[in-house]
Amino acid sequence: MDLHDKYEAVIGLEVHAQLATNSKLFCGDSIAFGAAPNTHISPITMGHPGTLPKTNKKAVEYAIRMGLACNCEIEKENYFARKNYFYPDLPKGYQISQHTTPICIGGHVTIKTANGERNVQLNRIHMEEDAGKSIHDLDDDFTCIDLNRAGTPLVEIVTEPDLYSAEEAWQYVTEVRRLVRWIGICDGNMEEGSLRCDANVSIRLKGETSLGTKVEVKNLNSIRNVKKAIEYEIDRMIKLVESGGKVRQQTRSFDASNDTTFSIRDKEEANDYRYFPDPDLAPFHLTDQYIDEVRAALPTLPNELTKKYQSEYNLSAYDAAQLCDEKETTDFFASVLQHTDHYKSVANWILGPVRQYMNEKNIGYDQLMLQPVLLANLIKLVEDGKVNFSVASSKILPVVIEKNSSPLTVAEEMNLLQVSDSNELEAWVAEALQSMPDKVAEYKKGKKGLIGLFVGEVKKRSKGKADPKIVTQLLEQQLNN
Ligand code: ADP
Ligand code: MG
Repeated sequence: MDLHDKYEAVIGLEVHAQLATNSKLFCGDSIAFGAAPNTHISPITMGHPGTLPKTNKKAVEYAIRMGLACNCEIEKENYFARKNYFYPDLPKGYQISQHTTPICIGGHVTIKTANGERNVQLNRIHMEEDAGKSIHDLDDDFTCIDLNRAGTPLVEIVTEPDLYSAEEAWQYVTEVRRLVRWIGICDGNMEEGSLRCDANVSIRLKGETSLGTKVEVKNLNSIRNVKKAIEYEIDRMIKLVESGGKVRQQTRSFDASNDTTFSIRDKEEANDYRYFPDPDLAPFHLTDQYIDEVRAALPTLPNELTKKYQSEYNLSAYDAAQLCDEKETTDFFASVLQHTDHYKSVANWILGPVRQYMNEKNIGYDQLMLQPVLLANLIKLVEDGKVNFSVASSKILPVVIEKNSSPLTVAEEMNLLQVSDSNELEAWVAEALQSMPDKVAEYKKGKKGLIGLFVGEVKKRSKGKADPKIVTQLLEQQLNN
């Protein structure tokens, strides 16, 4: 029997998302990534005596946004607590966090699984400030410290132990990343550390209801690493238990060079952080009216929009999901639909030629200089049979984008409008049929499928300008006589 069938893995994830505010959680220092080390460190960030922090309202709004997007209950009475401990990159000697009163309680995130959609239960979403960064590989003898990041606002999104495989964890983090980007609270950039994940993993015998001892793998900085770390841990624990060992509660780290984890420390008992409410920060009360305002400003969420695209626009589940992968795509889709109601074609164009163009140029929607109305006009040219799809997508689209000019003008200037004038078409049809007498004979004997070949030949002779609908009609007339 496969040991993976004997045991069940249980996983809880803690995702830290850096909020995309301009300034820090308790002062005006910039949180921009990549600044010269230790340049965004006012006395408040440094925790100098006598300085007074103030709560960043935008950060609170963003945390509520995330809570609403995850169906959490929003806590109205909030305060920040000091979590005291020493760490070289924690200049104040304590981290300001929400201890027992997270701003968002409960809730869930919907993920895709092999058996359809499932809600992963959240425990909470709380706010806290980030620490600075210790850099161990810059100098041979010393650890360098960059405190720019200290005080950056974070939300920590904590699940219940409600994930059961590395694959589900992958889906969950992917969905959280899509959500934070969608609602604009975090850039979701894992390479730059804007989104980081700690994975708590345990195993138990299948059918068992109590939880096994967990380990926590810290600071996973890509979705791939989340998956690899969990896969490794499940395997390690199963082997350990099968050989008579016992899982020890540990904090572990992931080694991306060989996809393994290693122990950093054993967690013997709970730390005492001496939490107490920060006396320098006023508790804050949220009104129903304010929470409603934040809710009203939320965009339609991706899962809801995916369903809407299927029911209202009759798009396939696959196309709808592709469009809803990123908010920029759906925004562009919506703006093209202001000018045309060829829903299906617009979806095809966005997921096909437009995406291909962007991939080739390696650009995103922020750099795509394509006016939605021009794409709508181009689609209309194809729908009206004035140009064919392949010419429109490969030849006309790039010029429309680069010159920002009307598709019709471009088609005319490049001499790409389809010819539907029957004299010219008849000449091409005659030439094409003359060039393939054997095939014509076969067709006449009943091999009707050859019509495609003839149409292709006429297209070639016309350099793509012959309107295939009319060509087919003309060919059939000729051949059936
Ligand atoms: P800690 O005090 O060690 O931080 P918490 O109870 O706050 O532990 O839980 C942290 C995360 O670990 C949560 O996401 C929770 O769902 C998860 N978790 C807790 N116990 C287990 C377990 N036995 N197996 C897997 N995950 C767990
Ligand atoms: Mg923890």
